[in-house]
Amino acid sequence: MHELSLAAEILRLVQASAARDAFSRVATLRLEAGALAGVEVSALRFALDAIAPGTCLDGAAIQIDQPAGRAWCSGCAAEVEIASRADPCPVCGGAPLRPTGGSELRVLDLVVQDD
Ligand SMILES: [Zn+2]
Repeated sequence: MHELSLAAEILRLVQASAARDAFSRVATLRLEAGALAGVEVSALRFALDAIAPGTCLDGAAIQIDQPAGRAWCSGCAAEVEIASRADPCPVCGGAPLRPTGGSELRVLDLVVQDD
């Protein structure tokens, strides 16, 4: 499952920052999974829950923002909102569009829990 390796990557990032900033527990982890990032949010949440026990993410509240996909249409020079990379331009029907936003999976914020 794709999301399991993404969850492992996120855990690695969090553990690296736990080592750097000397904390052991995360209270809240906020992620961004853009509509064009190709991430199934429910599967990612499930995968994070599965790997959290015994790590610094154990018991952490996980929030996942899902910004809409944005793209630039070279046909009509419009900045448009799309739900998938395969969508044609909603203004002129042209394709392909060049994604300009909502294609990332990243850690937005991490709130540390005091022991
Ligand atoms: Zn267009």
